[in-house]
Amino acid sequence: MSDSSKYTMVEPPAGYAGEGFFATKLSDVVGLARANSLWPLPFATSCCGIEFMATMASHYDVARFGSERMSFSPRQADMLLVMGTIAKKMAPILRQVYEQMSEPKWVIAVGACASSGGVFDTYSVLQGIDKVIPVDVYVPGCPPRPEQILDGIMKLQEIVKNESVRRRSSDEYKDLLGSYNIK
Ligand code: SF4
Repeated sequence: MSDSSKYTMVEPPAGYAGEGFFATKLSDVVGLARANSLWPLPFATSCCGIEFMATMASHYDVARFGSERMSFSPRQADMLLVMGTIAKKMAPILRQVYEQMSEPKWVIAVGACASSGGVFDTYSVLQGIDKVIPVDVYVPGCPPRPEQILDGIMKLQEIVKNESVRRRSSDEYKDLLGSYNIK
C-alpha cells in the first residue's frame, strides 16, 4: 500500500471549494495547465547546452516539470531556452526562430553568454539576447549548474501561472514587441 504522506500535493489555484464542486478563475486554470506543460525549444550554441543536456537526463529529470517534450520546430514549442554564445551573425536567426513560435511564448536566457555576452566582450558577440528578443528569465552562471536551469524553469512557471489570458492582446504587450520591431 502506498504511503500518501510521502507525497507533496500541489495546491489547487485559489478558488472556492465545497462538497462536489470547485470554483476558480479560468485564467488560473489556464495558467496552471500552461505552467506545467512548457515545451522547450533548446537553442544551444556552446557549453551551456551541455548543462541543459544534463538537466534533461535522468538525474535532474526535467520531465518532473512537464517539460520533457523537446521541440526542434518553433511552431510546437512555447519555451525558448537560449544557451551559449550568440554571435551577432546568428542574432537574426535567433530572432527568426522566436518569431516563428506561436503565442503564448516565453524566453529563458541560460548562462552569462546568452544573458550579457559573458566573458566575450568583443565586436562579434551579441551582448545579451535581449538586444534582439524579449527575455522573461535570466539564469546566471558560466556555466549554470542544472539546478540553476531548473530554478529558471520554476521561476518561469510562476510567471506563466500568474499571467492573464488577456496579456498577449494587451497594448502593453504589443508595445513590448513593438520596441523590438516585432509585429
Ligand atoms: S556562459 Fe560560460 S559555459 Fe555558458 S556558453 Fe558562455 S562560456 Fe560557455
